[in-house]
Amino acid sequence: MNYYSLNRKAPNTTFAEAVIRGLAPDKGLYFPESISPLDPSFFETIENKSNTDIAFEAIKQFIVPEIPEDVLKTIIEETLNFEFPIVNINENISTLELFHGPTMAFKDVGARFMARCLGYFNKSNTNEVTVLVATSGDTGGAVANGFLGVKGVNVVILYPSGKVSDIQEKQLTTLEENITALEVDGVFDDCQDMVKRAFMDEELTSQMQLTSANSINIARWLPQLFYYLFAYKQLKSKYKDIAFSIPSGNFGNICAGMVAQKLGLPVKHFIAANNANDTVVNYMTTQSYEPKPSVQTISNAMDVGNPSNFIRIQELHNNNFEDLKANLSSYSYTDDETRKALLELFKDYDYVADPHGAVGYLGAKAYLENNDAHVVFLETAHPTKFLDVVEEVIEQKVELPPQIKAVMDKKKSAIALSSYEELRAFLLN
Ligand SMILES: *Cc1c(COP(=O)(O)O)cnc(C)c1O
Repeated sequence: MNYYSLNRKAPNTTFAEAVIRGLAPDKGLYFPESISPLDPSFFETIENKSNTDIAFEAIKQFIVPEIPEDVLKTIIEETLNFEFPIVNINENISTLELFHGPTMAFKDVGARFMARCLGYFNKSNTNEVTVLVATSGDTGGAVANGFLGVKGVNVVILYPSGKVSDIQEKQLTTLEENITALEVDGVFDDCQDMVKRAFMDEELTSQMQLTSANSINIARWLPQLFYYLFAYKQLKSKYKDIAFSIPSGNFGNICAGMVAQKLGLPVKHFIAANNANDTVVNYMTTQSYEPKPSVQTISNAMDVGNPSNFIRIQELHNNNFEDLKANLSSYSYTDDETRKALLELFKDYDYVADPHGAVGYLGAKAYLENNDAHVVFLETAHPTKFLDVVEEVIEQKVELPPQIKAVMDKKKSAIALSSYEELRAFLLN
């Protein structure tokens, strides 16, 4: 499969090159040249298939033969070695829990998959690849863990000092091996700016192969389509019309769901559930896309004012607004509404959500006011990842899961940094 740049000013390229580069030379996002629907029998018999078989059948058209079938199977088996359970909330709403991976964030799947693809492409290469990421908390841990021990790949993570939770900091700073954490004296935007400058720094990029590990990278973005198939597998015998409500930031996850739909997955509707960062909500009413600076919220993994994957969503709908509108609704919620939803889930349904999942739940409820369907909201992080907010709202302690406990006792190791020049010197060293 070849990939083209959505800016349409760069040559088409292979899966391997798209993964290694991240972004096309014209700064556009890569997109597959075609998406062929799966045979209807795939969906008719999906409940009899294992998750790894489902994932392999669904993604192979994008990757084989560049990665041979047997290698891809192994990558998928290693990526998906945990559960993706559906938990019923009420008659009309369920949640798909995506937080049972090693760092308890849904980004584990994309990060593990991408790490293994990059490791495969790089195994016969003597030049090391450096993955450079800025994190506001959750991405960094998933990327660090996913890439740990992958040969030929070094990972450098920038995080804002004092601005991530203790759990998140431990997940970033205790791994060692090929993972280095840089503790930046600044806020997330400073980390992000330094990373951007590094990618633009031609003297630097001529000396080392830098790549990013956020959802602009197709190897991190595409495997998220598995979630929707796993939900359908568990729910198809119970409900005819299934809609998905996705807590969205950069819109990579929801966009992958729309790829699953193109593959033939029956999805009645998509709901993009947002916090106060409402660029897409506004677009869906005004048809005018106006990026804004991000606003800080309690669901901070979604604090994105200019969602990078929205352009892929438009492409999937042939850049036709009416088509998009028929398939996507978008709602925005304040932190107060999010806290109320957390409390409602706990009191009425005995379910402890995290703030991102709570926003997803609100999106599901809004859609159901005027529509009939069974709505699945995606639970994108374990509640302990956002412990302060959750415990304050439900007024109870939340038990730390074993993955988290294990990391809390380890020793932090990070290099302090306060300027781009220091980052540059570190990378060139
Ligand atoms: C990254 C993240 C999101 C947003 O996902 P996108 O693909 O960027 O829309 C939602 N919830 C959590 C917990 C996340 O870490």
